Amino acid sequence: MIKKTGILVIVVGLLLAILSPVSVQAQGGLAILESSARADFPSQLSFSLSAESEVNITDIRLHYTVDRVSFARVTSEVYIEFVLANTVDAEWTWDMRKTGGLPAGSTIECWWTVTDASGNKVETTPTQVRFDDNRYSWHSLTGGKITLYWYRGDESFAQEIMAAAQEALARLAKDTGAYLEKPVSVYVYAGAQDLRGAMIFPQEWTGGVAYTRYGVIAIGIAPDNLQWGKRAIAHELAHLVIHQMTLNPYNYLPTWLDEGLAMYAEREPEAIYEAYLKQAIAENSLISVRSLASPFSAYAGQSYLSYAQSYSLVEFLIAHYGQDRMYELLNSFTQGSSYDGALNTVYGFDMDGLNTLWRGYVSEQYKSTEVTTAEMHPALIGALAALATALLLALALVTENWAWRRGW
Ligand SMILES: [Zn+2]
Repeated sequence: MIKKTGILVIVVGLLLAILSPVSVQAQGGLAILESSARADFPSQLSFSLSAESEVNITDIRLHYTVDRVSFARVTSEVYIEFVLANTVDAEWTWDMRKTGGLPAGSTIECWWTVTDASGNKVETTPTQVRFDDNRYSWHSLTGGKITLYWYRGDESFAQEIMAAAQEALARLAKDTGAYLEKPVSVYVYAGAQDLRGAMIFPQEWTGGVAYTRYGVIAIGIAPDNLQWGKRAIAHELAHLVIHQMTLNPYNYLPTWLDEGLAMYAEREPEAIYEAYLKQAIAENSLISVRSLASPFSAYAGQSYLSYAQSYSLVEFLIAHYGQDRMYELLNSFTQGSSYDGALNTVYGFDMDGLNTLWRGYVSEQYKSTEVTTAEMHPALIGALAALATALLLALALVTENWAWRRGW
């Protein structure tokens, strides 16, 4: 029974996805009879066209642009292969397995140009196609600029996620001045497996993805994993807010700032991060701020420490220098400033200076807990690391995908 329902949903979804936008357009003896697009999420998007003329049709091209934030409008042009004839049914499939995928809810604007042997040329009116994930029956809930889509769990499940998202926005606005500039769609899949099914090249450990340029977050939250979900949504949303604000053609944010702000939006970090931080202070094995500007190590222990330090660095900057300076810092990155340049302008120290000041702060902060740190047996740290590796999806934010870095 469940299977049948599933199939029915898929069929209905596909039918909904079929668009027939065309009013007949013609020039001379050349006419477009029909054009349509069909989404088969996440792997392909098919476009088809029927045209006829009194003479042979000689050239058919599909043009499309993807609606996302970019620094130059990019139009793709596809030359369609077909047999010359008076009447042509052409089809082209965008195979995302070859190009990389698009997030659910992406909008593509497309139009056709058709030419015949008499030199008649018709260009169709541009049409919007939405690449929706029609494999599920989505419910939706909107609050401010956030629209949440979900299909498993009741209304209160969605409301709790929404509340966590709004709380994260409020916290970011209050302490950093950053706010959501454009609307965002959040697709809540019913778990990590469903989420991976919505991606073209998923990583084993992917738990959430922020597609910054599309204003889309996709995340896997099972209804019985809500506590993790609320943290994860705050985290990914913070990435989106910060990236919307600082996107520029010159550089990315230093990773410690990006991840630190995302963790800051979650409120208190989980205990495991603090354990790594304390251990590193005790062993004098903290990672330098300069190293943390680059992508983090993939090793669980180093990764946890990187996130822990990033949170602490951001917390230090906000607590000691306030919201205004953090806002200024983010703004100077928007102008394309270098990491050292931006810090120097706003705070009067560079990454090495920050490193020294922060080490003093964090050593002082954990001085009273030194005994506890020393007592934490290395075996326990090892066990925590092993647990973390085994339960990445359930536990941690190292599960996030780095899609935004690749410019998706
Ligand atoms: Zn993150």
